Amino acid sequence: MVLPTLGGRSWRAKPLSRGPALFLDVKIRPRVDYRTEHLPKYGEVLAGTRWPQFVHTRAWALDWDPDDPTSVLETVHDLAIQEIRSSGVFDTPRSGDDEAPEPVLGSLLELKMELADRLAAECQLCERGCGAHRAEGKAGTCGVTESRISSSFLHHGEEHELVPSHTIFFAGCNLECQFCQNHDISRQPLSGEVLSAEECADLILHNEFSSRNVNWVGGDPIPNVPFILKVLGVLRSRKPRPQVFNSNMFMTERTLALLNGVVDVYLTDFKYGNDVCASRLSKVDGYFGVVSRNHKMANRQAELLVRHLVLPNHVECCSIPLMNWLREEIGPLRLNVMDQYRPVYRAKEHRDIAGRLTTAEFLKAYRHAESIGHLGLD
Ligand code: SF4
Repeated sequence: MVLPTLGGRSWRAKPLSRGPALFLDVKIRPRVDYRTEHLPKYGEVLAGTRWPQFVHTRAWALDWDPDDPTSVLETVHDLAIQEIRSSGVFDTPRSGDDEAPEPVLGSLLELKMELADRLAAECQLCERGCGAHRAEGKAGTCGVTESRISSSFLHHGEEHELVPSHTIFFAGCNLECQFCQNHDISRQPLSGEVLSAEECADLILHNEFSSRNVNWVGGDPIPNVPFILKVLGVLRSRKPRPQVFNSNMFMTERTLALLNGVVDVYLTDFKYGNDVCASRLSKVDGYFGVVSRNHKMANRQAELLVRHLVLPNHVECCSIPLMNWLREEIGPLRLNVMDQYRPVYRAKEHRDIAGRLTTAEFLKAYRHAESIGHLGLD
C-alpha cells in the first residue's frame, strides 16, 4: 500500500462495514450529554479543564538506570505510579490557555517505553505469552513483528461521545476470532505500513483540532503498545487529545500496568461469558479470567466504555453472564450492545454462528442489559 499523503489528514479511509440495522422495539430516549454523564474525566479533557493523562506521565521526572534489571525497573515503575496517582496531578484543573507540562528526560513515560520494549523482546504483551523474538522478525500468534498501520482517519461511526474519533488501525490481532468483523486487517498482519513514531505523531497533529480523541485500534493495539508509547513520547501537540485504547483486553497484567497513566478511556470489546465459547471461537485459553481481571484493573486506571457484539445463539452463555459480571463486579457501565453481527471470515464453519443474529436475540440481550442498570445503551 502506498501512502498518498503521509502527514495529511487521512489515508486509506476504511470505515468499518456494518450489516443491516435491526428494527428495534425500544423506546426513544431523550438526548443525553454522554460525555459528562458516563465519561466525566474524558469530558473535562474535551472541555479544556483537564489534561489527558500521558501529558503528566511524560513530565513526571524519575531516577532510573536503563542498565538495571527488569525486576528493579518494574518496582521503580509501580512505585512511581502510586506516587503520581496519590499526588493528585491527574486531577489538577487547567484553564484552556495553560501550556501543557514540559516533557522531561527519563520521565515515567520513558521508563514505560523501556519496559514495553523488554516485554516485547520475547513477547509477553498478551496472555498468549508466545515469547516471540519480534525484533528479529519472528512472529507469534498475532503475526506482528514491527507495528504496521492499516489506516488512519477521522471515524464518524463510533459511539456518540467519541466522534469524530481519530482512529489508527493496526494490522494483526492476538485473538483468532472465527467471525472477525475486521478480518481484512486482523488476519493480515503484513497488510499495513511501517511508520516511524514521528510519522505517526504527524498524522495525529494533522487531526488534533478536528478530532475528539486518538483511538488506537486494530486488529488490536496490544501487540503495538511499545509503538504507541513511543508516539506519545514524541508527540508535541498544541491540543493533546484523550487516548482511547480500543481492545479485546487479552493482555498481561504487566502490559496493562504500562498503560496506567497513559490511557484515558478503555473502549473494550467483551466477547464471551465463558472459556468454552472463547476457546472454540477465538482459539484462546483462559479468556474470561484474563478479560474480567483486566476490566477491573482498567476501571481503576481510567474510564470504561464497554462494547459487546451479540452473537447468534450466544445470548444465554455469553451476553447475559458477562453483563451480569460487569454489573456485580464493576457496576452500571456505559455499555454498547451491538447488533451488527455478520457471519464473515470462518463463521460458516461453525453452525452456531453461521447465520444472522435474530431481532429476538438482540432484544433479549439489550433488554437484559437495560434491566440490570447498564447505562447509556446505544
Ligand atoms: S502480542 Fe502477539 S507475539 Fe506477543 S504474546 Fe501476544 S500473540 Fe504472541
